[in-house]
Amino acid sequence: MHAPMSDVVVIGGGVAGCASALALARRGLSVRVLERNPGEGASWAAAGIIGPQLEAAGDGPLARLCLASRALYPELAASLVEATGIDVGFRQSGALRVAFTASGRDEIAREVAWQREAGLAVELCDGDAARARAPALCDEVAGGAWFEDEARIDPPSLMRALRIAAERAGVQFRTGAAVRRVLVEREQACGAQLEDGTKVEARWTVLAAGSWSSLLEASGLAPAAVRPARGQIVELTPASPVLSQVVYGPGCYLSPRDDGRVLVGATMEFAGYVTAVTSRAVRDLLTAALRLAPALGDAPIGRTWAGLRPHTNDDLPILGGGEIARLVFATGHFRNGVLLAPV
Ligand SMILES: Cc1cc2nc3c(=O)[nH]c(=O)nc-3n(C[C@H](O)[C@H](O)[C@H](O)COP(=O)(O)OP(=O)(O)OC[C@H]3O[C@@H](n4cnc5c(N)ncnc54)[C@H](O)[C@@H]3O)c2cc1C
Repeated sequence: MHAPMSDVVVIGGGVAGCASALALARRGLSVRVLERNPGEGASWAAAGIIGPQLEAAGDGPLARLCLASRALYPELAASLVEATGIDVGFRQSGALRVAFTASGRDEIAREVAWQREAGLAVELCDGDAARARAPALCDEVAGGAWFEDEARIDPPSLMRALRIAAERAGVQFRTGAAVRRVLVEREQACGAQLEDGTKVEARWTVLAAGSWSSLLEASGLAPAAVRPARGQIVELTPASPVLSQVVYGPGCYLSPRDDGRVLVGATMEFAGYVTAVTSRAVRDLLTAALRLAPALGDAPIGRTWAGLRPHTNDDLPILGGGEIARLVFATGHFRNGVLLAPV
């Protein structure tokens, strides 16, 4: 069985696939997205931190790409509101990274020195200055750094808006479509074949299947080029808002929502394709969160969940063309796929 030829077929409807599809459709191309099971991917599980400065281990191409992407976020968020009416929760709320000891604080200062030299907004702070920004932080906090330009977003809203905007731009979504392999003829990619044998042909093929990307036949990737790195999150629902900005602390981060919820994340585990939430992870995350912000101790637990980050050996995303002509990769975004949506 054949579906009619489109310009592009995108394999995977997570943030990488949806954002690519939307951008291509807005440039006038006909696009089809093949998605096995919406909601299965990391994109729906993410904490929504738009934090290139929090995440950067140092200056380099990935840090620069992430910074460029953050700069494009206001435009993406505004265009999604315009196209769909959905507020994706993009807030330029700033972020804190804190330590409990003077040596930890000095370590943070050393790690962000390049950012100050590069002219990025970073303010070193002592414990009192950190608590002035986020009064919920405990007395143990010895200081750290404040990043004025960091932001946050609500990933489920982002995913809803991306899909609707893409559909309105003409993208066709086919859900329940499990792709078995990339179609390659005469050394050129020409679409995808589903598990049921259906061929979906296209002039170009985009591989955006997240942690599952290198499981596809003829993917052009080494077998373990992309591996799942599980991240578990505990959602707390305080009666009144405790925090407005993102906080990275020892053992956890806190990512607040406008309605007062706080996401406590996240573990980093290589546990295969398993999205179970474990008691050890919940204990460790809550222990770290309550030490950092004791007021969260009264907050009811909302939900817990886990997702699979697409990890690569060098921690870098796999973007652009490879050895197979007309096959374009948009995968391996690891910890930064939501941040990288605009690029
Ligand atoms: C707990 C957690 C917290 C995170 N927090 C942040 C954060 O704060 N900021 C940030 O920037 N990033 C964060 N990330 C990382 C981010 O979520 C990922 O980098 C990003 O979602 C990857 O997007 P993706 O579209 O490549 O993959 P996914 O979202 O995993 O999407 C891949 C899609 O492909 C589909 N698929 C797979 N195989 C097939 C197939 N054979 N046929 C058809 N469809 C298929 C899947 O069903 C899935 O929907 C977090 C991740 C986790 C797990």
